[in-house]
Amino acid sequence: MIHSLDVVILGGGAAGLMCAIEAGKRGRRVAVLERAERLGKKVLISGGGRCNFTNIHCRPENFLSANPHFAKSALARYTPADFIALVEKYGIPYHEKTLGQLFCDRSARDILGMLESECNDAQVKIFLNTRVQEVRRSTEFVVYVEGGEFHAPALVVATGGLSIPKIGATALGYEIARQFGMKISEPWPGLVPLVLADEDRARYCDLAGVSAEVIASCNGQQFREKMLVTHRGLSGPAILQISSYWNRPQPIAIDLVPGREVTAALRDPKTPRNAASLRAELRKLVPNRLADRWLELHAPTSWTNQALAEVESKVHAWTITPAGTEGYEKAEVTAGGVDADELSAKTMESHKVPGLFFIGEVVDVTGHLGGFNFQWAWASGAAAGRAV
Ligand SMILES: Cc1cc2nc3c(=O)[nH]c(=O)nc-3n(C[C@H](O)[C@H](O)[C@H](O)COP(=O)(O)OP(=O)(O)OC[C@H]3O[C@@H](n4cnc5c(N)ncnc54)[C@H](O)[C@@H]3O)c2cc1C
Repeated sequence: MIHSLDVVILGGGAAGLMCAIEAGKRGRRVAVLERAERLGKKVLISGGGRCNFTNIHCRPENFLSANPHFAKSALARYTPADFIALVEKYGIPYHEKTLGQLFCDRSARDILGMLESECNDAQVKIFLNTRVQEVRRSTEFVVYVEGGEFHAPALVVATGGLSIPKIGATALGYEIARQFGMKISEPWPGLVPLVLADEDRARYCDLAGVSAEVIASCNGQQFREKMLVTHRGLSGPAILQISSYWNRPQPIAIDLVPGREVTAALRDPKTPRNAASLRAELRKLVPNRLADRWLELHAPTSWTNQALAEVESKVHAWTITPAGTEGYEKAEVTAGGVDADELSAKTMESHKVPGLFFIGEVVDVTGHLGGFNFQWAWASGAAAGRAV
């Protein structure tokens, strides 16, 4: 069967659906081809099932890309306030959790339901369980699927990244970019727990479950949030954030006591300078088990002022070298992707291949943790949806 349309969108996730809505509202005949048996599976599992759908403090600095200016235009033209207005139009209850992160009060199903309803109103045609076999371009794009063909002058690739293969992530977006001669910035797993080498695992991982507010830094970036010790390494928001910037075999630095001084009390002549006093001070600032273990492994060599200064600086810059990450199985996002310089920042259309658009996570724009990745999906989706 042959379907003739104005726009074919590959991928019915956050970006693809937003693009479909905007294009459909403009009277375009739109089809979304989704490989899975339902739309928006990642929306449903996002934010622990409550979907952190945007961040009210969204700024270009919250994104990584080889071209740090690329995302600015789309982000400015579809803002968190635009998405919040849509959420409020549907009466979806939400709250700010922390650091500007907006979550549904009830469930991520509210957000997906809203997107599906908007698609329905915009007369978007949805094709589920649809596997793309081949894409060709002659006078227009032709997408071949089992038992059918979709023809359209505009093709939007919204197939996401490689994260969480068990819910259907595929490399189709990158393959299409390569097929049309576009550059790709080699993808890597972002927002992902870090794994420690055997020796460090033996030192720290029996503390699994212990968490502390830290500053994690690497490659000129730093994040002040919670760190969590896991059975295999380190996780928690501070570590997930810094993981996007980390490259093997670099160390990361962890300030275990941001803005606080551990050894100040020991400089007071009334406090005995010994291990018990130091332990008592550190225990005031980090969980007991972490304080005790860290001091066992970083005991001062003496109790001179210099030795105290050394321990003070070490506790603010504990360096640890991860062996790797938990990979795409656990990564919340895929960093890297279709090179931003290949695309128009205003419309997401390929410079080389007119009519071909890339949006969402498949593009080399990756948000920090906290609702930024969805904001990019909405903004890039809207940018393309208004242009196709
Ligand atoms: C566990 C988890 C929690 C997250 N929580 C948040 C959060 O709370 N806030 C936030 O901002 N971000 C969150 N993210 C990141 C966010 O989900 C993604 O950045 C966002 O979904 C990207 O949107 P997208 O439309 O580009 O890709 P996706 O949402 O991944 O959609 C891509 C779609 O394309 C389909 N597809 C793939 N290959 C093919 C193919 N070959 N043919 C047809 N269809 C195909 C997929 O099935 C999918 O439906 C989370 C991610 C994970 C994994």
